[in-house]
Amino acid sequence: MRDVDAGPRVLLKRIRQIMVKPMDPQTRLDRFVEEIAQSMVAEVCSAYVLRADSILELYATFGLNPDAVHLSQLRLGQGLVGTIASSSRALNLSEAQRHPAFQYLPETGEELYHSFLGVPILRAGRTLGVLVIQNEAHRVYSDDEVEAMETVAMVIGELIAQGDLKGLSTAGVELDMEKPVSHHGQSLSDGIGLGHVVLHEPRVVVTNLFNEDTDAELERLEKAIRGLRLTIDDMLARREVAFEGEHREILETYRMFAHDKGWVRRMEEAVRNGLTAEAGVEKVQSDMRAKMQSINDPFMRERLSDFDDLANRLLRQLVGNAGAKASNMPQDAILIARTMGAAELLDYPRDTLRGLVLEDGAPTSHVVIVARAMGIPVVGQAKGVVAVSENGDAIIVDGLAGDVHLRPQQDVQLAFAEKVRFRAKRQEEYRALRTQPNITKDGEEFSLMMNAGLMVDMPQLEESGASGIGLFRTELQFMVASTFPKADAQEKLYRAVISESGGRPVTFRTLDIGGDKVLPYFRNAPDEENPALGWRAIRLALDRPGLFRTQLRALLRASAGSELRLMVPMVSEILELRQSRELIQNEVRHLSKFGHGLPNKVYLGAMLEVPSLLFDLDNLMKEADFISIGSNDLFQFFMATDRGNSHVAGRFDTLGIPFLRALKSIADKAKEHGTSLTLCGEIASRPITALALLALGINKTSMSPAGIGPVKDALLKTDIGALRNELLPCLENGIPDRCARTLIEDFAEKHDIPL
Ligand code: PEP
Ligand code: MG
Repeated sequence: MRDVDAGPRVLLKRIRQIMVKPMDPQTRLDRFVEEIAQSMVAEVCSAYVLRADSILELYATFGLNPDAVHLSQLRLGQGLVGTIASSSRALNLSEAQRHPAFQYLPETGEELYHSFLGVPILRAGRTLGVLVIQNEAHRVYSDDEVEAMETVAMVIGELIAQGDLKGLSTAGVELDMEKPVSHHGQSLSDGIGLGHVVLHEPRVVVTNLFNEDTDAELERLEKAIRGLRLTIDDMLARREVAFEGEHREILETYRMFAHDKGWVRRMEEAVRNGLTAEAGVEKVQSDMRAKMQSINDPFMRERLSDFDDLANRLLRQLVGNAGAKASNMPQDAILIARTMGAAELLDYPRDTLRGLVLEDGAPTSHVVIVARAMGIPVVGQAKGVVAVSENGDAIIVDGLAGDVHLRPQQDVQLAFAEKVRFRAKRQEEYRALRTQPNITKDGEEFSLMMNAGLMVDMPQLEESGASGIGLFRTELQFMVASTFPKADAQEKLYRAVISESGGRPVTFRTLDIGGDKVLPYFRNAPDEENPALGWRAIRLALDRPGLFRTQLRALLRASAGSELRLMVPMVSEILELRQSRELIQNEVRHLSKFGHGLPNKVYLGAMLEVPSLLFDLDNLMKEADFISIGSNDLFQFFMATDRGNSHVAGRFDTLGIPFLRALKSIADKAKEHGTSLTLCGEIASRPITALALLALGINKTSMSPAGIGPVKDALLKTDIGALRNELLPCLENGIPDRCARTLIEDFAEKHDIPL
């Protein structure tokens, strides 16, 4: 009998000796099970590996019929082994055959054995197989033995993860680790990206499993835990989280977990059993992840995943940041993260990024705003994607459909590669149009500008061929920051934007915060029942003149010596425009009093987003230097349909007759008064709506840069006069059985206009 009392340490030592000797993978696994059986004083030890077809295949055994190796198979959930794999939990039974899940496999000859201990082979929370020992005698395995089995199972998990057991299956089926997985999430930014996984918070790959000196390892672990606690305290002490809010709550939870005695004890135990500090953290983390998978309560899952996050931080404390960052970024990186800050995304080299996948992520989250500005496809709400991804896995992000395909099969890869080629070809064609004058087939001029909000948008000006920036959303700088940007930071950005625009006109929109544009650090933001109708945009700016004046001053200073075009969002009554003008004039006076340079000319525009202005158009046209229709909001308020609510956002057609009539009345009034009119918002960026706008007389639009190519392509091919002749009578008379959309579609089809 071997020295079972010496516990897992001795077993681990022997396993390590087998690991370092050169031998083929099957022999190594055979030696493993033999050694485990002997050390644990068991008659049987078997290792089952999970295949891509959800079958657990017997890969090695000591004690059962050796002919059953690679032949014996169990489905996930079938028998004791299948139950362990599907639940990711150990089974410790003194009479295995009495367990309801017991299934007799005649080829193995296991009827002799009564007691049974099986543990899942885990890696990063995924079950890769099952390790079993059996005894003839009825016995209950001790906690130490369970721990020892879990520890060696972890070593086998590494063998599987490193691909050592690849190709051993006689059935020729690949392992579960390598199988293709698809996730459906939420489409957050358009486009398709093909590339390779880069885990934003990479699991630290623990290569050194076995410790040489337990005391030294325990000390390392203790030091790392101390370091972890300090970093959390530091984060909590930072100014931006020094008040109540979600950030703070999360960190408080982290702090509580970092002091959790049970967690620390389990890691220490793993080290005492012979693992290095990092392997100990990894083992406990893996157990935790496996548990997480079977928990349905979303609150508990979230808490456990906080723990998971914490373990990752601890691993990084142990191996330093060098071990954490992907050492060599692939040239086609697709970032995968549970969640990520906007600034962190900007840390990656733009030219290597092909996509972003988030387990969280919402259309309005900062990282998504920035990714969209960078033109990177994003899929959010892809729950569980981090756990099944490995650095370097092939992956496809379909930002159009909101799908993620991990380790895709070849036919899927080929189909997507074709789509990407097609899109690139179209992009090339649009690029070629950049230098063509913006004139319709029948000679009408139009102007296409782009929307922007961050410096990362600026290269798109040249790329897209936009004739300027029709909407610069200044709030984005505020949204990606963690505190209110200071006056000089604002001025610096505006200056850089003006300089990068190379003389093309830029229209800055003053702060449009509130509603769905939330600043986490904005302390006095009220809890609103209807935020879209609430304290937002110009309303907030006028009520917080300090904030507004700082921005106005920064804009005035940044455009010294040139023109300043600025517009205020969400104007509901003309008084708001007047009050804004007064504030601007005050700032101008202030700056000139102190000898600062001033813009040559300041144009103040109003964004027409609230329907009340439709009934005061004459006054509006007289008072505003220009008008910009914010069609997203105008449509939202016109139809009383929340633009951010997926149940209703797509319910009404933006080419509905009443809305087109409203747009036409604005265009007519602007023409009558000679007031410059632009439209910004999503409808400008789709060819079909862009045709309607020009037919109504709105010939200046601003849109997301990706829309410019397709819209220009369509407009160049259109006889807009002919479309107008068809569309306008319908607006007057109504089209009972045909909406404007089908009218334009038919027109485009007849005249070969790409929509
Ligand atoms: C709009 O409302 O159409 C608009 C352009 O502004 P935003 O989308 O930023 O609200
Ligand atoms: Mg708006």
